[in-house]
Amino acid sequence: MLHPCLRCGACCAYFRVAFHWSEADASLGGVVPPELTETLDPHRLVMRGTQASKPRCVALQGTVGEAAHCGVYEQRPSVCREVQPSWEFGVISLQCDKARVAHGLPVLTPADWPEASGADAA
Ligand code: SF4
Ligand code: SF4
Repeated sequence: MLHPCLRCGACCAYFRVAFHWSEADASLGGVVPPELTETLDPHRLVMRGTQASKPRCVALQGTVGEAAHCGVYEQRPSVCREVQPSWEFGVISLQCDKARVAHGLPVLTPADWPEASGADAA
C-alpha cells in the first residue's frame, strides 16, 4: 500500500511551520537545514515558503494531491513529526483533515488504512 501522505502533501502547503531556532543549530544537535529556514521572531524559525499567503514549504517535492514527499524527511522539524494522518493510528487528525479539505482532497477514513483495519487491500 502506498502511504496516503505520498499522494498528498497538503499539510506541507497549508500551515506555517514554526519551531525553536535550536532545531536548526547543529552545535546544539539541531538537524533542520538552516538554509531552508527564515526568522519568524527572536525565538522561532519557519520553514521557508510557509508564511506566504499561499504557503508551500520549500522542502516539499512533487504535486499536492498527486505525488508529494518531504525532501528533508530525516531532518524535518519537530512540528512536522507531530502531524499524524487521520486514522493511521485510529483517530482523526484535525490538522490533516483541515489541510486536505483546503486543497480539495477528501479527508482520510479508516478505509485508507486497510492493513490497520484488517480490510482487504484492493
Ligand atoms: S498528514 Fe494528512 S495532510 Fe499531511 S501529507 Fe499526510 S495525508 Fe496529507
Ligand atoms: S519540512 Fe518536510 S514535512 Fe515539514 S512542512 Fe516541509 S516538506 Fe513538509
